[in-house]
Formats: sequence, structure tokens, C-alpha cells
Amino acid sequence: MPSLASRIRLSPRNELILTLGILVLAVALPAVALMWSTRQILDRESRNLRVDYDRLHRLQLQAASLEIANRIRALASPTPEEATNTPPGVGRRFLELLGSGKADSVLILDEQGRPLYPAPAWAISASRPDDDAALKQLMALWEEVATNAPAEGYLQTLRVLKAEKLGAARTLSGRLIVPSLEWAALSMMDPGHPEYRSTLDSLDRHVRDYSDPLMPAGQRLFLRDRLRSVGIDGPASAEEAERLGLAAAISFRRPEIPGILERARDMESVWMLRSPEGTAVWLFREERLRQLLEPLAQRSLAPQGYTVALERIPKGTPERNGIQSPIGEAWPGWELRLDGTQADLEIQQAIRRQALLHLLTAVCAIVLGSVLGGLAVRRFLQQARSTQVRHDFLSLVSHELRTPLTSVRMLVDSLAGDPNPDPERTRQYLGIIARENQRLSRLVDDFLTFSRIERGRMTYDFQTVAPEEIAEAAVGSVRTRFSVPGCDFRIETSPDLPPIEADVPSLSTALINLLENAFKYSGPEKRILLTTTRQNGDICFAVVDNGCGFTPDHRERIFERFYRVQGSGQGSAGVGLGLHIVKSIVEAHRGRIEVDSTPGHGSRFAIHIPITPPNP
Ligand code: ADP
Repeated sequence: MPSLASRIRLSPRNELILTLGILVLAVALPAVALMWSTRQILDRESRNLRVDYDRLHRLQLQAASLEIANRIRALASPTPEEATNTPPGVGRRFLELLGSGKADSVLILDEQGRPLYPAPAWAISASRPDDDAALKQLMALWEEVATNAPAEGYLQTLRVLKAEKLGAARTLSGRLIVPSLEWAALSMMDPGHPEYRSTLDSLDRHVRDYSDPLMPAGQRLFLRDRLRSVGIDGPASAEEAERLGLAAAISFRRPEIPGILERARDMESVWMLRSPEGTAVWLFREERLRQLLEPLAQRSLAPQGYTVALERIPKGTPERNGIQSPIGEAWPGWELRLDGTQADLEIQQAIRRQALLHLLTAVCAIVLGSVLGGLAVRRFLQQARSTQVRHDFLSLVSHELRTPLTSVRMLVDSLAGDPNPDPERTRQYLGIIARENQRLSRLVDDFLTFSRIERGRMTYDFQTVAPEEIAEAAVGSVRTRFSVPGCDFRIETSPDLPPIEADVPSLSTALINLLENAFKYSGPEKRILLTTTRQNGDICFAVVDNGCGFTPDHRERIFERFYRVQGSGQGSAGVGLGLHIVKSIVEAHRGRIEVDSTPGHGSRFAIHIPITPPNP
């Protein structure tokens, strides 16, 4: 039973279609499957990647938040210098701590946690009961002198206070009397007054003085404002800090825990930070805290290229998207938030990289699949073709040889079995035997030539020969057979033909095949013409007949091995090898073959062989 491969008989066009079909199936289907699974994987990976990145970012933010909390704790403690160089006196201590510049202001507290400086004036007066007696005395004096000439009265009072060493005297509300009187005198004086300048300088000194007796912050701020109105400026930063401190001291309650930011009461965006021993409270505006702490977070996350921001946690949105981490109890209500665009960009890039990798893998797999699939299909078809050829060849050989051999055996048997053979019949039988014999030889020749061509063993001995020599060799071989009644065989050869490079036996075999086909496929009245002419750079051997011809769709295929036009030539013997052999021989001579055929009218086969270029 023939194998599957041997049963496949395909034209080159169908073979191409089959190959493409198999390739499409072998490549397109896996490709689609691969694409689909790649998409699935990518979707899953991008989800995982987002989760991973979120986790990573959250961890990094947590670490940065922790660092910020530590920094806040560190801010609460005085620096070693602050701790060792604590000057005597509340006011000096205030100035010293303020000088570090780390906070917007600072409150110095007493043991009970009440503000000493900045503080409302009454807070200071309460701690100075001794001054009250002096104050009463002074007030009486002031009443007396101020009624006549106020400026002179104030100046005199000041002189008395100095003489009595009552420079530390305060009003009932805690204000220092001397600076107040100085300003009162100045406001009454003409700038040209001889004591105007000295009084002004003394007032400016008092306002700048933070040692004891300490001027209450409210009084200092007031007098500094007055001094500014007469063109004497003081340090703005201290003034601002005092204003802030004073505002915070009014409704102050000391924070419970050191190192934790607590919102100042009745104040917008001001935070308090208690020192560990509890005698100082730093005051920060939110903007300063942000400026102080944000760079810290930036620094710890900068290597990854993120931008982070310190933000107030919005109220009423406990479940929020995005990546943020609360600072925790160190700064309640605030969080560190990662700039989403950067993180998104990073994730997108990572996903794109993954996708590209998958795509490349898929493309490589498809290309590899196509190549391997193509090679496999080609190999399969080659195998199928060679099996087919072998199978066809064997069946043809056995079939084509059996017919003439059988008829020869029967004729020989009949002659041998007849004791008195009729001479006429004997001659007739011997004639048939000779023809069958000739046909057998031609078949065997064709088979051998075909076999040599297929195995690539065909050898040619090219010589420079006259074209007539080829034509004559072919004619010599067929002349006897063509010399029958009803066959008009003519030969026309142009004079002075240039030589060609040819292997005489092979090329004449090609010509013989064409002549025999012309004979075979013509009716009882045969007209066969062999012409040898020059056509441009070629010698053209043309065989023209008046035979059955064939339709144009067979024109290409008749040169295929074993191809025969169905119904042509009245069942004439043939195996479909003749024209295949002709084509191979002509191509070996670097020539070409042309066909022209009209069904019912005849055919023209023309072999073109290039003329040998003349020797230089
Ligand atoms: P074979 O003659 O053994 O069948 P060939 O290869 O010589 O094989 O020819 C292939 C087919 O081409 C033939 O079967 C025939 O149908 C067609 N053919 C060849 N020569 C002619 C011709 N001169 N006139 C008509 N048909 C031809």
C-alpha cells in the first residue's frame, strides 16, 4: 500500500498553497495563542508590579516618616551649646535659644510650666511684689510734677528714679516704669530739646536689653513700634518672634509630652514643641516645619528620583488612593506624600520594559517557529515528491516494459510452435518484433537518461559543432521510421550557420524526442518539418507538426516529469518523460525551449541554443 506521502501528487502552485497553509496553521495559531497568553501575563504582571511598587514606596515613605519623627524629637532637645551656655536670666535665655534660628519663636517657662518670656506683663508683675511700694511712691511724685510741664515732669521723675536706684520699678500691670516714662517724655519733647537725644538712646538701650529687670514682651513691642516711628529700627526677627511668642503665651497650656508637635491653642498653623526638661517650648509655623523637614525626606528618597511633600491629612478621607505615610504622633494630622506622577511613570516604564521583553520573546518564538515549520514542510514535500517519483517510475517501468515484452514473447512463441511457418507471416511477425524492440530500446534509453538527470549524474561533452551535424544525427535516427506512407517529413536548414557549443549525442536526443512526439501525436496524414535557422544570437531547431496539439494550460506542465495530456495522441505509448529530458538537456546547453500549439491544428517546439562567440 503506498504511503501517504506517495499519494500526494501536487503541482508547484498547489504545493506553494499547501506550504503557506501549513505555515499559517503552524505559525499563526501558536502566535495568536502566544499573544493572548502574553497579554494575560502582562496584565497580571502590571498588577503585581503596581502592588510591589506600592509596597516598596510605602516602605520607603515609612522610613522617611520615621526619620522626620526622629528629627522632630531632636529639634525639641536643646543643642549641647544651648544646654551648656545657658545664660542667667529669662530674657537672655530667650535670646540665646532664639539665636539658634531653628524655630520661629521660643517660650521660656517657669517650673510650673507657665510662660515667663514672652508673656503678658501681669505674669511678670505677679512675681515682683516688692516693686509695688516703690510704684506707689513714684505715682505720687509723678502726679505732682506732671501737672505743670509734662516733659520736664517726666524727665525729673526719671532723674529721681535713677537717684533712688528704682530702675527696676514696675507698674501694677508689670510694665517697667523707666522706659515708659522715657517714651512719655520724648513724646512731649521737641527734638531740639537738649535731653532729647540722650533720652532716645537710653530708651533704645532699654528696649534692646533682655537682662533683668526684664521688660515684658508687650511693652517691648509697643516701645519698639514707637521708636520706629521716630526713625530707630530694632532687630526684626526678634520682634517677630516675640510677637508670635506673646500670642501663644496668652492662652498657653504646656504640652504634655516632649518631642511631639502640638497645635498652639487659638492659633492657626502654629505648632509647639516642648523641650525634654520642660522649661522651653519651641514655636513653629507650619511653613517653617515644612521647609525644615521636607528636604530631609527628599534626601532619603532622592536616590530613587521621587519627589515627596509634607501635607496636612485631609479630613474625612480615611481610605485614600495614592501613596502616603502619616508622620504619626510626632506631628499629628500630617503625612508624607509621594509624588504620584513620578511613581506612575516608573511603573509604566517597568511595565513597558516587561512588555517589550515579552514581545521580543514572542517574535523570536514566531520567527523560529516559522523557520522550523517552513523547513519541516519543505522536507516533508521533498520526501513526498521523491517517494512519488520513485513510485511512479517503478510502476511505469514495469507497465511500459511488460506490453512490448508480452507481444514479442507471444509472436516468438507462435513462430516457434509452428512446424511449417508461412514465410509471409514470419516476415510480418519479425517486423513487429523489430518495432517493439526499437520501442523497448527507446524506453530503456529514456529511463536511463531520466535516472541520470534525477541523480545529477548526467555528463556532457561540449564540443564546437556545426548545427547541421546535430540535425543530421537526429534525422538519421528517425528517417527509417518516418519513411512510411502518409508521413511527409521535410528538413530545411539555412546555409552558413555559425557553430554552437553542444554535446552532440544529448542535443540530438532532445531533437529526436521532439520529432518522435511530432510523429506520435499526428494523425494518419502527418506533415512534419524540421528547420535549423539562425535567430539573433541563437541557433533555432524547430519541429513543426500538424498533430492534435494541446490547449495553452498544458504549455508549462508538459515539461514536468510523467506529465501527459489526457486524451492526446490516440492512446499512443509514452511515459511523460520525453519533454522533461529535452528541457534538462537544453538547459544544460544554456538554451531555452519554446512551445506553440493549437488544439486540432498542430504544434511547434523550438530549441534555442546560443551561438558560440567567435574566437578573439
Ligand atoms: P510522452 O510523449 O511519453 O507522453 P512527453 O514528455 O514527450 O511524454 O510529452 C508529454 C505530453 O506532451 C505528451 O503526453 C503529449 O500529451 C504532449 N505532447 C508532446 N509533444 C506533442 C506534440 N508534438 N503534439 C501534441 N502533444 C504533444
